[in-house]
Amino acid sequence: MMEKEKKEEKKEEKRKEKLPLRRRIEITSRGFRLLGKYCPGLARDKAFHELVASLQPFVIVWFSARIIDEITGERRADLLALYVAATVFTGFLCAVAKGLINRVCSEKEAQMWACFGKIFSDKQMSLDFEDLENAGIQRQKKQVEENLYMFGNGMAQLVWGTATLVRCFVNLAASLSMSIGLFAARSRSERMNHPVWILILLLCIFLGGRSYYGASVRADKIFREWCKRTVWFDRMSAFFGNELFMESHRAKDVRIYEQNIMAERAMDKMLEWNRHSGRSVFFMALYPALAGVLVGLANAVCYLYVVLKAYFGAFGAGSIVQYVAVLSRLGDGWRELMYLLSDNATYCAYLQEMFGYLDLPNRKYQGTIPVEKRVLCQDGDNEYEIEFCNVSFRYPGSETWVLKDISVKLDVGKRLAIVGRNGSGKTTFIKLLCRLYDPTEGEIRLNGIDIRKYDYREYMSIFSVVFQDFRLFSFPLAQNVAAGREYDGDRVKKCLEDAGFGERLSRMPAGIETPLYKDFEQEGVEVSGGEAQKIALARGIYRNAPFLVLDEPTAALDPIAEAEVYARFQGIAGNRTAVYISHRLSSCKFCDTILVFHQGGIVQRGTHEELVSEEGGTYSRLWNAQAQYYTQFR
Ligand code: ADP
Repeated sequence: MMEKEKKEEKKEEKRKEKLPLRRRIEITSRGFRLLGKYCPGLARDKAFHELVASLQPFVIVWFSARIIDEITGERRADLLALYVAATVFTGFLCAVAKGLINRVCSEKEAQMWACFGKIFSDKQMSLDFEDLENAGIQRQKKQVEENLYMFGNGMAQLVWGTATLVRCFVNLAASLSMSIGLFAARSRSERMNHPVWILILLLCIFLGGRSYYGASVRADKIFREWCKRTVWFDRMSAFFGNELFMESHRAKDVRIYEQNIMAERAMDKMLEWNRHSGRSVFFMALYPALAGVLVGLANAVCYLYVVLKAYFGAFGAGSIVQYVAVLSRLGDGWRELMYLLSDNATYCAYLQEMFGYLDLPNRKYQGTIPVEKRVLCQDGDNEYEIEFCNVSFRYPGSETWVLKDISVKLDVGKRLAIVGRNGSGKTTFIKLLCRLYDPTEGEIRLNGIDIRKYDYREYMSIFSVVFQDFRLFSFPLAQNVAAGREYDGDRVKKCLEDAGFGERLSRMPAGIETPLYKDFEQEGVEVSGGEAQKIALARGIYRNAPFLVLDEPTAALDPIAEAEVYARFQGIAGNRTAVYISHRLSSCKFCDTILVFHQGGIVQRGTHEELVSEEGGTYSRLWNAQAQYYTQFR
């Protein structure tokens, strides 16, 4: 990289790091609002816990100082008894209160990470589908998540920072008020009473705190750099150390193709990185340690002053204990305040990154028109008509047209088949139909209105889709079919039977309650690819939507199961509008219209009979190729 570019990059980095105070306040308050929404009460409980915890030592020190003064002075038994009782009682009270709040806090803090996970899953769910496939956005999400989960950068720092803020406030307020007597008390030596001592002591404490602040800023900078590189290390070790060997769908290929050699090389690289990272860790520890020396010197000056003042008769032994303790706490409070300022700058930078991801716009959710609810039943009109008008499409970031000038109307209640060679744009057509992507050119209309104007969720609800690359979940079978926790058991069974899963269902150990896969349940059942496809088909049937879209729904089925599904297809589709993608042309015979896709365009359309009779056409070539395959090997 050119020297100039490097300088620019560094400048940009610095700009990012130096957030103005106003922006930091905005970010911090937004962070607290988010915390309040996802982890209600956590910051408040944490603050209360810290208030009790940091007040307790001051109370104990104050009473202890009075007890020592009394023992070394007048030794009044009644007052001594009162002080001892008060010390024991407040100590007991604080311990109980701390214990109780601690219990609540640890429970909430344990849930905190799950709550943070919810922030990300909510955003991921509301992201436009095309953004899910956008590598840049997914990298951005991964970076933000890893920052948070590996070191608590951002949101968790905000929680911990709340505790530090309270502790700092208590330390400063209580120690300042409890050290007034140190300066007010007169000693026999006039030199020791000079007000310049106040300045010297405060300066020592200030310098100690300042050096600690400087050290934390430097250490944090190294830490942030280290975090960035550690994210890479963590990703690599998660993949090569765990996923590659543990995940069952990869395990077969790893063994057969001896991928462990690749993993060993990657592991060597990681170990080398680990050795280098030791330098960063050393400096991260060195700066605070050097600052610790200065803090120690500042404390020494304070102690010396307290002891000398007592030596010249300003106060008794009890007060020495009190002043030594509170001056050290004053230093703590000042250091915490400085640290808090540097920490706030750090977590604001992380929060800003996170908000950058959370603020990614959701273009899909801008439509407002409700999709009319028409009951899908014998008497319902089910009048949803969709029309593609001169639709062309390119995937984001790609120059290649995947669909070109597509115009087609999906007639109500009719069956439409789409055929064509691999890569001709069939699945993309379905993605556009379901508004997972918007057309690059042209318009898709529902009952004459551009689908972008409809409420996105409502629009999605009119489709039942079985994608080629469907996914089932590690939940009970019935919940998979109903795609939710609540379900109608009889309907689930009927849908499974319609999808050809009836016989297998009778062999499921707990019927429709049987858990799928073993991720969560030991007694979970592993299903074959074909069986999984039948369950996915049942899920599509269960969702009683006006449009049924099936993308290669029988690709994994054996020929008998496939024939059964075709035989039942008219019954399954009922009075819905059905769109059906298949490579097996014989299965398209029952469709009212067949569209033949080729290189992103519709090259033929018609019924099976019409298209077969168009000699030399793509459809008849595909048909003959398949027919030949069957007759040749008879
Ligand atoms: P078909 O379903 O007919 O096999 P697709 O619609 O899946 O075809 O794909 C059409 C073309 O679009 C292919 O060339 C494919 O490589 C490309 N394509 C599919 N998905 C994406 C994507 N997410 N990003 C970029 N190109 C894609």
